[in-house]
Formats: sequence, C-alpha cells, structure tokens
Amino acid sequence: MIQAVNLGFPRIGLGRELKWAVEGYWAGRHTEAQLYETARQLRMQHWQWQQQAGIDQIPSNDFSLYDHVLDTIALVGAVPQRFGWHGPSVDLDTYFAMARGAQEKELAARGVEGTGIPPLEMTKWFDTNYHYLVPEFHPEQTFRLASTKPLDEYLEAKALGIETRPVVLGPVSFLLLGKSVVPGFDPLALLDRLLPVYAELLRRLKAAGAQLVQIDEPCLVLDLSENARNAYRHAYEVLSGADFPGLVLTTYFGALEENLPLALSLPVVAVHLDLVRAPEQLQPALAQLPPDRILSLGLVDGRNVWRTDLDAAAALLQQAVAALGQDRVWVGPSCSLMHVPIDLEAEPDLDPEIRPWLAFARQKLDELVTLKRLVREGPHAVRQQLEAARQARAERMASPRRINPAVRQRLAQRTPEMTCRKLPFPERYTLQCQRLGLPLLPTTTIGSFPQTEELRQKRAAFRRGTLSRQAYEQFLEATIAETIARQEAIGLDVLVHGEPERSDMVEYFAEQLEGFWVTQNGWVQSYGTRCVRPPILYGDVSRPAPMTLRWITYAQRCTARPVKGILTGPITLLQWSFVRDDQPRAETCRQIALALRDEVADLEAAGIAIIQIDEPALREGLPLRRRDRPAYLAWAVECFRLASCGVRDQTQIHTHMCYADFEDILEAIAALDADVISIEAARSGMQLLEAFQQFAYPNAIGPGVYDIHSPRVPSVEEMEGLLERALATIPAQRLWVNPDCGLKTRRWAEVEPALRHMVTAARRLRQRLNPLAS
Ligand code: GLN
Ligand code: ZN
Repeated sequence: MIQAVNLGFPRIGLGRELKWAVEGYWAGRHTEAQLYETARQLRMQHWQWQQQAGIDQIPSNDFSLYDHVLDTIALVGAVPQRFGWHGPSVDLDTYFAMARGAQEKELAARGVEGTGIPPLEMTKWFDTNYHYLVPEFHPEQTFRLASTKPLDEYLEAKALGIETRPVVLGPVSFLLLGKSVVPGFDPLALLDRLLPVYAELLRRLKAAGAQLVQIDEPCLVLDLSENARNAYRHAYEVLSGADFPGLVLTTYFGALEENLPLALSLPVVAVHLDLVRAPEQLQPALAQLPPDRILSLGLVDGRNVWRTDLDAAAALLQQAVAALGQDRVWVGPSCSLMHVPIDLEAEPDLDPEIRPWLAFARQKLDELVTLKRLVREGPHAVRQQLEAARQARAERMASPRRINPAVRQRLAQRTPEMTCRKLPFPERYTLQCQRLGLPLLPTTTIGSFPQTEELRQKRAAFRRGTLSRQAYEQFLEATIAETIARQEAIGLDVLVHGEPERSDMVEYFAEQLEGFWVTQNGWVQSYGTRCVRPPILYGDVSRPAPMTLRWITYAQRCTARPVKGILTGPITLLQWSFVRDDQPRAETCRQIALALRDEVADLEAAGIAIIQIDEPALREGLPLRRRDRPAYLAWAVECFRLASCGVRDQTQIHTHMCYADFEDILEAIAALDADVISIEAARSGMQLLEAFQQFAYPNAIGPGVYDIHSPRVPSVEEMEGLLERALATIPAQRLWVNPDCGLKTRRWAEVEPALRHMVTAARRLRQRLNPLAS
C-alpha cells in the first residue's frame, strides 16, 4: 500500500529551544548533559507529531545540533588537522570549534596551545537560505567512523516505539559539497576511502533493525561532470547488497534531467523526486523506472508555505499509481521540511483571510496523509480535506488581497527609459562629485551601526505595547543624532543614519509594504543557532507610505555632511522571503522594484544626494543549473535598475554586496550601473579586485578594508596596505573606503577605533596621492 514519507523535520523547536540550549552551552550556562536533554526532548516531540499525523516513514538523524553536513564531517572523522583532534569519536567541543572556530583562551582551557583556530567555511545549501559548513579535503585524507549519531538516534526513536528511517547525506554529495585545500585536487578521488565508512555505518544500522535508510544525494540535480556520474555508479554498486538496509535515494531542489536515467539505474529500493520544482520529470521517470523500484513523489512543497493544491497533487499521484500500482508509490514533501516554519497554530495574529492559504511543516504532514488516504481509501474518505483545500484555493485566487490592478497597470506601462540613467557613468559621476564636494578616497560605512542592548529593549517594549510610539520614536531620533555626531567625530565623509529602526533589513520593509505578511513565530534555521523569519509575499506589492524617509531626513538635518539613505534592494527582499507560487518570481520582483523606486524618489526629493540599495542576495538567487542563469541575471538587473534609475544624474546610487564570491557574475554587477558599489573584500585580502580589474569594472568601488565579522580592530597600517593593493587595480578617482559590511553586530568599543583607523589610513593615502590638496 502507498505510504506517506517525510524527508526531514525542522530541528530548532517551536520556541527555538535548540538555539537557546546551544547558546546556553556556549556561554557556560548549560552543561553538555542539559544540552543533550533539550535535544532529546525536541527529537521526541518531532517524532511524535509525525507519528500522530500518520506519517509511515518518519526520519531520524535529520536532527542536528548545528548542521547536518558538519554532522557528516564528524561521522566520517574528516576533522581538519588544525583542530588537533585525535579521536576516537568527535567530542562536542571539537564539533562546535569546527563551526565557530576556537579562541586562544578556549584552547588554553582545554590545555591546547595556539593562537586561535579559524572555523570551517560556511556556504549556502543549494539555493536555500540555509548555510552548511564546508568539508575540507586533501590528498592524504583518511576517514573512519567517528560518531554513532545516526545509530543512536535510530535506537532512541525505537525505544519510544517509533520505527524511523535514518537520514544520511550521501557519499558523493558529501564529497562534491566539500572543497580541496590543495589546489587542483578532486575530492571525488577520495570516494574509495570514504565508502568503507558508509558501508560500516549501513551494516550497523541494519543490525540495529533499520529496514530503510534515506540517503540524500541532492547533487544529482546539478550539472555533473562525467567523473561525478561515474562516482555515483560506483558508490551505489558498493553500498548495495544483502548486508545493507534498503536505500532510499533522495533528490530535491530541482529536476534530474540528464541525470535521471543515472539515478533510476542505481541499485536502490526507492528514488525520490522533487515534483514541486519539476513536475515534468514524472512522465519520464514512470517510463524509465526499473520494475523493482519504488518511486517516492515529492508533492508537498518543502520550500514554501502555501497550502498544497491537493487536486493537482492527486492528479500526479494517481498517474503514478496507475502506472506502478500502489505498492510502488510513496508520497512525501519535495524536500526536508526544515526550510519552512513549524506550525501555523503558533501564529495567533495571522490575518484570518490569509491563514487558510498557508501550510507550515505540521500542516504539510497532514496534507501528505490526506494524499495517502486518497489513494488508499478513495476520495470520499478525505472529501472534507479536499473540499477545504479547494475552497481555500478558490478564495485565494479570487481575493482582492492578491491582485492590485493599479500595480499591474503601472508595470504594464513601464518603459525602457525607466531602467536607464540619463548620462553615462563618467559624466554623471563628475556631476555628483561636484555636488558632493568629497575628497579623494571618500570614507563611508555600509549602513547599520551597533544595535545596543538598550535599543533592543526599547524595541521589544514598543512591540509589547509598554512603550508608547512617541517615546520609541524619540529614542530612535536621539540614537540617530548620536550616531551622526559619532561619525562626524570619527571624521567620515559620507554619513549614514545607522538603521536603528530596523530589527532586520528585510523585515523592516516587509512590515510596511502591502503584499507582505510578517510572521511572529515563523522561524527557520539560517545557520547554526541563527534563525530568521522570512516574510510571506502573498499579493501584489505596493508602498502605502514612505518607509525610511522620516529617519534619513532626520539624520540629514543633524549634519552638514551628506547622509547616504539606505534601502534593501528588490532582489534581496524577494530572495529572503517566501514567494508567491501564483506568478513568476521576476514579476513579483518587478513589483517590489517599483515600490522601492517611489521610496528612492521621495528621498531624492527631500534632498538626499546619495542612496544605497543593498543587494547582498543577488548572487544567491542564481539558479542551480548554468543554463538558467542568464535569464535570472537579466531580470534581476532589470529590477535593480527599475528601483534605482528614476533619479537625476546628480543623485548618486550606491549598492552593497557581501557573503559570496562575485567573480562569476561581474558582468551582471556592472550592468546594475550603480555609481558606487561597496563590496566585501577584506576577508580575502582584496583578492576579488583582480577579477574586477580583469573585467575592467567601469564604475566606482569601495572594497571593504575592515572585516566586520570579527571583533578584532585592524590597524591603520593594515588598512592602508589593503588600500594600496586596491589602488593597484582601481584608479584613485573611483576608489571608496569602507568596511566589508554593516556594523550592527559589533560593539561601539570596537567600531569606533576601527573606523578611526580607517579614516586615518584614507587620509594618509590621500596625502601621498595629492600632497597639495589637503
Ligand atoms: N545596510 C545593511 C547594514 O549595514 C547591509 C547588510 C548586509 O549587507 N547584509 O546592515
Ligand atoms: Zn553586507
């Protein structure tokens, strides 16, 4: 009979219990035992919810204290040498040291000498906003089973009377997601050393009673080299046989396309396909599936919050059942549910009209079970659920909340001129320099300044209703005035208001734009203990009133120096939200861009001469397949320009980017045609600039000279050195001086001296470049 399966459940807990427990452990407030106890409770709760919902195959080992790729590194003993680990198993402090690095004093406490150890690199998990820790490999790499976590968690569930399907990251994806620390070395060469560890784990899982193991191979949806495809064939040859449990090969986040025949031919029990992203792969899969395989259908969206169109899902499901019979079909979410919030019931203030449109993780479990029952018992058995889903859908489609004719009309009437500045960059930059009267190598920051404990308390009190709006806003104004005064004292040339009114650069705008819903408890894990609440984009976007004008113009009234107005860009607002599934992303992004265009116009009209539109998420919106990238970049660039190009030539547009390698999208970055880009560069010692030089980037650049991710205060000489390196590739007339990113997570005690050093470094260089000017 058909079974309802789940691929993974959110780990963090409804009240973010995991975050508090882990951070408590780091701070020394909790013992290891207390942390483990919280984790155990969370797992139990999550398994029980799934069991109560009627899920037949419940995952285990989908839980993680920090990250499942880090768990895999620990599992196979791939701890880099610098952590000084000798085994036999990976202890908790080594585990967290890989995630966060180790400071000198922590090492001393453990009796290890050293000057601090950098953590593993962190990067985005495919095209999600989840970040994983990147495994490091080298040619002498060895592996051994160094953790029993999958086994322990399987047995833990069994002791609760719950039979689970352990989840492990597959060996080929694990190697492909890692990086070589030796140039030119291909981690896939390590496959034969890695497979015995997987074999041992699988044998032990089987001995413990596990019938099925879910083996995640999401890299099968990427463009693969022939080498990688061979690695798949070889790996699953080795891991099949009577010794091992049945393997469920899971793929997600896209279509397998040319890798479909490969995946279907591997000797596994079942193959899982993401039919939300790629429903078109059902037909070829049904045609090519070998007779002894089961097909697991990902029909409920694990990446988004919309209630499933059960009729559409049922149509695909019935098609599969008709072709394969009930016994060879499973129904599941498209991917792990860890990318969506846990429970709609935790949103008491949700708009009652919007609520029925949504499904969070627990509601998605119910949808899976409805689909299963539909096949097992027939449509009459789930008539009520089907009706409710139909009605919600019909109401959503008919809702005036979804469609705003004025927005649509405005978009339909947009003209090509709206995405072009009038003069080319060199001419308008000259006009801007005349207007602003800035020195050579102007100094500025990225936007935010330290968010103090006092600020957080006031914001919380305002939200709770214990602080009046008037008192809160007065406090914000005082904060802005003080931030301006500090910047003047430091000697910065272009000032910012500091963003004290923003708890988050996306949420702040989403709260004020029509078409977005901001949740109270819709947390999803971003990395480790960091969770975010992505807003829900449910309808056409418009701007009922100015969003930032009041704060930025207030700041400008506090100083004679130019204040740069900071906005979050359209691509980033889109990318860090749950998006609509009823229209293309590009269309939604254009709507956001138009709303921002109005904000830009208001700022300009109020005399703000520099406006920065942040797009840190531009790179991460890139589609997984190379073929799809040009189309994405084309509309992304168009949206940025739609937001920014409405200004006069004398108004200077800045943008800011960070958190990524930009080498491969320089063309698109240049096409944004921002007058000035500030970009993360200090961490890599200005390496990025070579790419900018090779590409001959035409506009002005502020490569970050100060890594804001660390509390360290860089010296004048260090930043001067970085600027000198920058000057080798960027002409002085087009070089700006700024930190890598916003300063909101830092303390004033670090920020103040660091910025003073930065200003001194810029002044010294100016002096050398043009001794007569100063
Ligand atoms: N303006 C934002 C800030 O300074 C930019 C943040 C970001 O790039 N992520 O905080
Ligand atoms: Zn940044």
